[in-house]
Amino acid sequence: MRLSTITHTAYVTTVVLSMITGATMLMASSALDEERAAVANRYAFDKASFELDVEIFHMSDKAREYVITGNEEYLEDYGVVVAALRDTEDRLQHMEDAGATEIELATLTEAIDQANRLTNEQKQAIEAFQNGDAETARDILYSDHYEAELDLINSDVLRFQALLDQRTATEIEQAVQASRTWKTISELVLGLTALMFLGVLYFVLKRRILRPVSRLSDVVTRLADQDYDVDLSNFHNRDEISDMAKAVRIFRENGLERRRLEEKLERDLKLKTVLSRMTHRVQACESKDEVADVVRLFLPAILPGCPGRLYLFEKTDNIMRQASEWLVPADSAARFGPMDCWALRRGTLHQHGADQPDMPCEHLRSGEGKLPESGPEGGGAVSSVCVPLTAQREVIGLLYCEMPDGPAYRAHEHYIVMLAENISLSLANMGLREELQEQAMADSLTGLANRRQLEQRLGALLRDSQHTERCVSCIMMDVDHFKMLNDTYGHDKGDDVLREIARILQSHTREDGLAFRYGGEEFVILLPGVETEDALLRAEAIRSDIAAHRFHHDGIVIDGVTASFGVSTSPDICPDTRLVPTADAALYESKTSGRNRVTRGWVASSTDKVA
Ligand code: GH3
Ligand code: MG
Ligand code: MG
Repeated sequence: MRLSTITHTAYVTTVVLSMITGATMLMASSALDEERAAVANRYAFDKASFELDVEIFHMSDKAREYVITGNEEYLEDYGVVVAALRDTEDRLQHMEDAGATEIELATLTEAIDQANRLTNEQKQAIEAFQNGDAETARDILYSDHYEAELDLINSDVLRFQALLDQRTATEIEQAVQASRTWKTISELVLGLTALMFLGVLYFVLKRRILRPVSRLSDVVTRLADQDYDVDLSNFHNRDEISDMAKAVRIFRENGLERRRLEEKLERDLKLKTVLSRMTHRVQACESKDEVADVVRLFLPAILPGCPGRLYLFEKTDNIMRQASEWLVPADSAARFGPMDCWALRRGTLHQHGADQPDMPCEHLRSGEGKLPESGPEGGGAVSSVCVPLTAQREVIGLLYCEMPDGPAYRAHEHYIVMLAENISLSLANMGLREELQEQAMADSLTGLANRRQLEQRLGALLRDSQHTERCVSCIMMDVDHFKMLNDTYGHDKGDDVLREIARILQSHTREDGLAFRYGGEEFVILLPGVETEDALLRAEAIRSDIAAHRFHHDGIVIDGVTASFGVSTSPDICPDTRLVPTADAALYESKTSGRNRVTRGWVASSTDKVA
């Protein structure tokens, strides 16, 4: 109930009770008035009846004195007393309405009638005396009958007074009783009013105002300290304080919402920081293995509770191979064909789970385990999410995650796609870098490795051979009279011949050698682990192949293209630092000694130097 309603009700009740108290007090007062009226009435009756009694005797005395003395003064007095008696009789009869009972009235009427009869007898006696018959007059006034009548009047008056006393006593008793009753009632009602006033004061002030206000003040203080765990469920009353509590509840909910938003913002900021750090690391990776390591390290922080795997596409074998995994995923094979994944087939994100009914990927069924039936906190099923990694519309890998269902993880989908784009970009950049490097290291005409790469590879090979103590052979080759060929058939045809010769060299080095274009029409072949004799045989085989080869170009056949060779071996023939120059010297020897031949290299002696 609202406080205003309680206050109004208490006010009205107090007013009603006060009115009742007033009324009962009036009633008590009225009872006292009745008591006073009864006493006054009794006094009036008493006085009149006494006067009646006295006047009758006085009248009788005057009548007797007159008839005995004959003194006229007594007669006059007698007349005065008779008039007074009449007056008293009138008053007594008039007093009928003042509450006299029938018996009282009958007794009084009888006394008055008796007085009238006596008056008549006195008048007869006075008349008789005035007529000279004093004897008769005295007989009337002094007869026993007359005396008896006088006594009778006296006894009637006394009886009337006794009746009057009795009635008056009863009336006074009743009036006193009524007065006491009303007084008690008024006291009770007054007490009740006071109690109710005090009760309302206690209830309203203490229970409905002081306690709730103090609780509310405590709540507001805690809310001001950003303690949102306060309990506002106690304010059930439908009053003004509950209205305030409702406002405070809204304030608390707003505060909670603001805190939720702040926490979310903080989480988002942290996540974005980790995401940005991962993006930078991934973009700075030099190899795919490094990318896989970065993904393994960062993914659990970005997608907590979501295990997964990173797959890279191996073009040569046409398979997706696991490059890294995090948080122990329950499903998905370590390697599988691209067609086993719906995401790779469709080229877009593919999700499968209880919450997202869709076709399950084949690589899930072929996995060692099955998706767990509940998430990390034990609630909800788990979905598999596959996102293809693509670069220039070509598949380069796959990001696979096991994501518990539920609204808390829904936003993760967005991050998985973002991560996949980042990883794709990094892998694509890496591919481009490799391609550029390859381009920088390759000869554009023949596709063979160029001289710069020869230097790198040769350094690595020689360092390797020092550890393994294996030999390294080098064949150097120069096309004979190539200038003349150019002059005869043109530069384009010369290029074709160089390309064809490169293919012949590749076919002879596929197993264990590396072919390089050294410059112009000169080529170098490195043969790690190949002894001098075998290297000489290999050079001879190449020489004879070139010599026997018929070069075709736009319907023209070019025969008789030959090349000269020089062979060196480290450490058999020369130290590793002299491997290429020794082969070059042997080549020069082949040229000078007639071309189209293979010459074994040698270490120049002091005699040679002199020569
Ligand atoms: P030798 O038997 O002594 O080696 O004689 P040669 O003519 O082959 O040697 P020379 O050094 O005199 O000439 C080499 C020629 O190779 C000159 C140059 O025009 C030609 N040449 C160099 N690079 C290319 C190329 O990329 N394409 C074509 N078509 N010709 C090239
Ligand atoms: Mg040359
Ligand atoms: Mg040449």
